Amino acid sequence: MNWTHNPVPKPGKQKRFKKTAKERGRITAEVYADALDRSGGYCERCGSPQHLECAHLMRRWKLPETTANDVAMLCGPQVNTGTCHDWIDHTREGREWALQLREQFWQQERERMITDG
Ligand SMILES: [Zn+2]
Repeated sequence: MNWTHNPVPKPGKQKRFKKTAKERGRITAEVYADALDRSGGYCERCGSPQHLECAHLMRRWKLPETTANDVAMLCGPQVNTGTCHDWIDHTREGREWALQLREQFWQQERERMITDG
């Protein structure tokens, strides 16, 4: 995003500059497809093919927007104790694991960018 380029907004039609928390946390169809593709159709923690859900790896209000690197396909449902989605959302250990996985995804993306030039 280029924050320095800021043309004069048309009067009365000023766009909202900041996205709402809901918009930032939104998992678009593209993000979902990328994450599903990466997972190969299996939970990215335990490898289960059961009830996959696209789970946020970081609290969504901390994100400027949600990318495929900010989510993982995890088995659910999130409300069921013992599933991976429940584990990352409701345990400290799970949260830490999720943040590390996110770092790993971003690291992989940086490496890809270097390789691709
Ligand atoms: Zn799982």
